[in-house]
Amino acid sequence: MISMDKQSAIQQLAERIVEERVCEHLALPGIQLVMGSGNLDAEIVFIGEAPGKEENRLGLPFVGASGKFLNTMLESIQLKREDVYITNIVKYRPPDNRDPSPDEKAAFRPFLDEQIRIINPKVIVTLGRHSMNEFLPKEKIGTIHGCLQTRGPGLPPIFPLFHPAAALYDGSMRGTLLADFQKLRNFLSKCR
Ligand code: URA
Repeated sequence: MISMDKQSAIQQLAERIVEERVCEHLALPGIQLVMGSGNLDAEIVFIGEAPGKEENRLGLPFVGASGKFLNTMLESIQLKREDVYITNIVKYRPPDNRDPSPDEKAAFRPFLDEQIRIINPKVIVTLGRHSMNEFLPKEKIGTIHGCLQTRGPGLPPIFPLFHPAAALYDGSMRGTLLADFQKLRNFLSKCR
């Protein structure tokens, strides 16, 4: 699919979320749909959990404190935001920054799958345990972070990372995340 077609396919997907009233209990006044941002031809799609306050304000994923550290990690492997695509499982900010419920994640899952299908990346990088468990329900992030997980034929592999917010609370996580990003770079250089 060429980029223009991808753009309109993502736009149509966003319209369907609204028309089909997906998780409309979250779409309260002042809450906007945060569909995703970045390069629709990206080799890497990053998937977080749900937008936070700043993401809702700007209508873009990962633009708050976690997003700033994500930018630092991208730069550490010579990537810019414009090189990758970033989205979340749940596209509306849950109230009071609570975790999205299993039902909310399940309601958005078909739309996430379609979004991934449109972009057709070489690898999906999950940010945090919740995002990883969406694809790999039995795995533990402490065991498999930074290790590429292959899936069935035709499905992009998953590269699980800790959530960038973890590095804001626990300084030692910063080094772990930066080291995992180097592994991601090694994987990307092999598949080019
Ligand atoms: N945390 C997430 O999981 N997603 C965002 O977009 C921002 C913070």
